[in-house]
Amino acid sequence: MKKLFFLFSLIFIISCSNVAVTGRNQLMLVEESQLIVSSEEQYKSFLKEYPPLDNRNSKLVKEVGKNISIAVEQYFKDENQEGILQGYNWEFNLVDGKDINAWCMPGGKVAFYTGILPITKDELGIAVVMGHEIAHAVARHGSERLSHQMIVETGANLLNYSLSNMGGSISSDIALQAYGVGTNLGILSYSRKHELEADRLGIIFMAMAGYDPREAIEFWKRMAMSSEGGENEFFSTHPSNNHRIEDIEKYLPEAMKYYNK
Ligand SMILES: [Zn+2]
Repeated sequence: MKKLFFLFSLIFIISCSNVAVTGRNQLMLVEESQLIVSSEEQYKSFLKEYPPLDNRNSKLVKEVGKNISIAVEQYFKDENQEGILQGYNWEFNLVDGKDINAWCMPGGKVAFYTGILPITKDELGIAVVMGHEIAHAVARHGSERLSHQMIVETGANLLNYSLSNMGGSISSDIALQAYGVGTNLGILSYSRKHELEADRLGIIFMAMAGYDPREAIEFWKRMAMSSEGGENEFFSTHPSNNHRIEDIEKYLPEAMKYYNK
């Protein structure tokens, strides 16, 4: 009976949304507004574990985040899609962590780890990562991955994920993995398709904020070099391939139009 209820709930809640820019269809088993509410809680508890830093670099992260978030808001306003950012309450923090990592949860909660700073190098590099991570969030890749993961991982345990339970708080490791936070369960990678979308949107956002999008190529070259030596969480969650730089080059003219405006 419970199972039946779950299936019915699923049918009612499944929605197909489209990714801005690319127009691709997405599978969505959970409402974005629910994810935003639970992200607020997850972000708070993350910051308890990783207290936000207050120094020159953290100010830089906040400043770049602010600039890019303004650009993102303008972008969706121009596209008449302001609804995409409904419930967003931006927050940008740098935390002390050796992992090469950064992420943005649904709702605009961003974290950079100090481990990524040697690769971002300066404000421009931070802007590349900021644009990319925010793009994953506003294109709802985390939500989409969570939806797919719910189907893949739950199997017979579908009931554990009954949507009534998910209402207020999705605290599962799966949700954290879906946003790239990384958990002890391992790391879930964004798909190549998601990476392409985040690269494409990310360089538009950074360009609109006044950052030269050509820096994305330099950043990804540095990232590739840094991962040659071994563990690199960012590279694991954001898999690359030989075509990444070619793909970014292909999208650069589109982003440059926003940069030169
Ligand atoms: Zn990515």
